[in-house]
Amino acid sequence: MLNSTLSALGAALAAKQVSAVELTGLFLARIRALDGKLNAFITVDEEHSLAQARVADERRSHGAAGPLTGIPVAHKDIYCTRGLRTTCGSRMLAAYTSPYDAHVIERFDAAGAIQLGKTNMDEFAMGSSNETSHFGPVRNPWDTARVPGGSSGGSAAAVAARMAPAATGTDTGGSIRQPAALSGVSGLKPTYGVVSRYGMIAFASSLDQGGPLAKSAADLALLMNTMAGFDARDSTSLERPAEDYGRELNLNLAGLRIGLPKEYFGDGLEPDVRACVREATRWFEGQGAKMIEITLPNTALAVPVYYVIAPAEASSNLSRFDGVRYGHRAGEYADLAEMYRRTRAEGFGTEVKRRILIGTYVLSHGYYDAYYLQAQRARRLIAKDFAEAFARCDLIMGPTSPTTAFALGAKADDPVQMYLNDIFTIPAPLAGLPGLSIPCGFDATGLPVGLQIMGDYFAEAKMLGAAHRYQQATDWHLRAAREAPL
Ligand code: GLN
Repeated sequence: MLNSTLSALGAALAAKQVSAVELTGLFLARIRALDGKLNAFITVDEEHSLAQARVADERRSHGAAGPLTGIPVAHKDIYCTRGLRTTCGSRMLAAYTSPYDAHVIERFDAAGAIQLGKTNMDEFAMGSSNETSHFGPVRNPWDTARVPGGSSGGSAAAVAARMAPAATGTDTGGSIRQPAALSGVSGLKPTYGVVSRYGMIAFASSLDQGGPLAKSAADLALLMNTMAGFDARDSTSLERPAEDYGRELNLNLAGLRIGLPKEYFGDGLEPDVRACVREATRWFEGQGAKMIEITLPNTALAVPVYYVIAPAEASSNLSRFDGVRYGHRAGEYADLAEMYRRTRAEGFGTEVKRRILIGTYVLSHGYYDAYYLQAQRARRLIAKDFAEAFARCDLIMGPTSPTTAFALGAKADDPVQMYLNDIFTIPAPLAGLPGLSIPCGFDATGLPVGLQIMGDYFAEAKMLGAAHRYQQATDWHLRAAREAPL
């Protein structure tokens, strides 16, 4: 059961081989057994989960079940939940409970899914290793001395360790795909605007996008069918007809044009990562796909552009944490200005403060043109690279991350090294494009490697189809993590 896909769990529930209460109990027990070691969850409320499971069983008995009714799903602690506190990995919100649910949470609740708990994350989703969390680092289930990736590291580790059959995440510059790669699970960042940002605590609003993490591409499709959809409360939510994200799972690979960007296979790529990704792309070639050498010439600009735009937006978004309306408030202060200063000094961690300082600087009068405006121009060039590439190919493939999981602490004191880990995941969100990561092998020390598949706007179904075909022929995605044996 722990290693089953969502459709298998749904079938077991439908056949009454297991009840939602039993299934939820099974995953809660797994969390109890493993989370002391992995720290993937910030909040678990067993009673709350079991109460939802009882309702799901009731619903199933009335024949009113959908594919996710009774299935436990863990949520990144960036999604506001009325029933469980929402911390965003920060001391600022350590005691915060939202008065409303995020749109994504509403959708999962309406589908009858069970909230299994809130997963650990980098503070305000700023990080690539889960080390910036106020609640301590998450450990990688393949090697507990290593990071799981970030910022959705808790979600990735929970799925990898089979503590949850699926989880939600968010991706601003790679936070779904990079932890999926480093933890050996599948993860999808949809086209910007497909999943509502309502109730998803804002980091960089022009980049943030919610998406699922699970064991397989077919499971991601099932989750997307619930997560995606128009929401008038998010002004950037796209009003499009509902789609079935699983409609192309049997994609015909013969003649499919796959672009291999030369910038994604250059120096700095670990040899084992290169070898696994190459072997995966050769598999597609063996199925009749046409491999096309392409170039995305402005790739090197992506990280610097992102580290102007994302902090700029963050500095504005995080101004709301002022100790007045919600969250932490300093205990002692002489006047209002000191209350703000102390609250923010105490409530935010180092990385968040660094981003607020950078963001405030690049937006300040006198520097705006030199940094922010210039970054917006370069962002256009990156989008143009992709537009030209997608005129020649259907999908783009490459590594998700240049390395496998690194050791806890290895990059913690060197922000630039940490930022460079996202070199292959940052370009797609700058262009608003979808991307996914699936397991495609292991390095010499047994750590998982991720294959990234990018597509044009709204190409999620095709990307999931290509990933599913690969997962039918390989079993990398079903291997159990070393430190969390089944
Ligand atoms: N690692 C990147 C950052 O630190 C991306 C994070 C994200 O996608 N939320 O900003």
